[in-house]
Amino acid sequence: MQKQDASRHGFQPSFQHFATQAIHVGQEPEQWNSRAVVPPISLSTTFKQGTPGQHSGFEYSRSGNPTRNCLEKAVAALDGAKYSLAFASGLAAAVTITHLLKAGDQIICMDDVYGGMNRYFRKVAAEFGLKISFVDCTKTKLLEEAITPETKLVWIETPTNPSLKVVDIEACAHIAHKHGDIILAVDNSFMSPYFQRPLALGADICMCSATKYMNGHSDVVMGLVSVNSEDLHDRLRFLQNAIGTVPSPIDCYLCNRGLKTLELRMEKHFKNGMAVARFLEANPRVEKVIYPGLPSHPQHELAKRQCTGCPGMISFYIKGTLQHAKVFFKNLKLFTLAESLGGYESLAELPALMTHASVPKNDRDILGISDTLIRLSVGLEDEKDLLDELDRALKAAHP
Ligand SMILES: *Cc1c(COP(=O)(O)O)cnc(C)c1O
Repeated sequence: MQKQDASRHGFQPSFQHFATQAIHVGQEPEQWNSRAVVPPISLSTTFKQGTPGQHSGFEYSRSGNPTRNCLEKAVAALDGAKYSLAFASGLAAAVTITHLLKAGDQIICMDDVYGGMNRYFRKVAAEFGLKISFVDCTKTKLLEEAITPETKLVWIETPTNPSLKVVDIEACAHIAHKHGDIILAVDNSFMSPYFQRPLALGADICMCSATKYMNGHSDVVMGLVSVNSEDLHDRLRFLQNAIGTVPSPIDCYLCNRGLKTLELRMEKHFKNGMAVARFLEANPRVEKVIYPGLPSHPQHELAKRQCTGCPGMISFYIKGTLQHAKVFFKNLKLFTLAESLGGYESLAELPALMTHASVPKNDRDILGISDTLIRLSVGLEDEKDLLDELDRALKAAHP
């Protein structure tokens, strides 16, 4: 361990060699005839074979592509995994993972997950005969009680979206594995491997929407899955090809490029995120701030144990009503009113009417997703400009 660094706000330093691996693993120029230092975008859908049925690693671009390979190797290194697979989107990755199951199997899903995951499990997977139970996995006792002989997959997200609850990955892995061969999958979209490595904490599958921090430039939709088990890898690799949930080589190129600055970006998201969270917490126009990096977060200690920092995702309740929230949004310029997160640009949104509108109202109430809950994705702009803008918009909402 390196020595404590004040700029890390009590969190441990991130994983050793991270930036070096992001820049070099899978990127060897020798793999290309041209010795290109930057991996080429390999658009060809088909590859010449030596003799019928004998190819030199690539045959058809759905089953394998050189640019995708290069990305997958880098991601595996960053996740501390043996294998990694890239998909057309985060949801395409989740769908492919779900195909590991068969009708009658049960999925236990954290009750507070990405709205699209909730929708997929409830409205699509359930229609195919899978049983879905939503459980608050921050209470590991509830998770244990929900397990049945049919349980095959436990799906958690940490921190959750948008309530930023922190789930104890190690404890969930312990429970899942105590009850036989239940797969624990962790959605790591909010953290990226720079801040959290679920496989090292006992998870079987680390999934993330690369659309967010991994690519980081809001110009690619993609999903990534990392595993250590050869068996899981082989089954997922088969499904990736059999279902056809593959990303385009151009997107692979862009995401691979995004990884080169992942460490720099995450450090700045952390710095800006802490500054914004502290500012909001001290602001009289704000009811409550939720940010795992703040000592006021109920699971701050768990966050410090499990993560090496926090990204730019902050949720807060503005005082007043939906009307106040709307005036706040109207007065934002640097923070764009938009869904998604994890890009270099700051975004703000109202989960109840936007990202989580598809979650039933009753469930939203239980999760605290009210009309005054605002979610920020703090980008890489100057800290002072962001704070000045939030100050102005809050004053406009509450003159
Ligand atoms: C965006 C997101 C997803 C879905 O990923 P897509 O790339 O949009 O399909 C899943 N989980 C989380 C936490 C997300 O933020």
